[in-house]
Amino acid sequence: MSETNNTIFGKILRGEIPSDRVWEDDKCIAFRDVNPAAPTHILVIPRQHIPTLNDISEQDKSLIGHMVWVVGQIAAQEGIAEDGYRLVVNCNERGGQTVYHLHMHILGGRGLSWPPG
Ligand code: AMP
Repeated sequence: MSETNNTIFGKILRGEIPSDRVWEDDKCIAFRDVNPAAPTHILVIPRQHIPTLNDISEQDKSLIGHMVWVVGQIAAQEGIAEDGYRLVVNCNERGGQTVYHLHMHILGGRGLSWPPG
């Protein structure tokens, strides 16, 4: 029996709740963050339910590589590639993860401080 992905991103993947999608292919989708931390804030998520970065298996390496390629495509599409942007993956509680479906944050459209708080 396959597990139901009851996270909010599982619901977005199934179309049960709306999202402002900017990318869609057979392996992943990307949509705008509902509570943006920067003028451009997009989340890239795999269709496969991988809860955290710690759960990426060896078989998932090509999927993750594909998602990083998609990040570059979206950055170009959004017009932030040349100025620059940040890619963030929060992992578990201390990393600030709140949704347990792996996601990559693309943040851009303003200067971003480093190190983060
Ligand atoms: P994290 O804290 O890394 O788990 O990031 C989860 C992100 O999902 C946060 O930036 C939220 O603002 C975002 N988020 C939560 N619900 C939604 C939603 N329905 N649509 C788009 N983004 C969402």
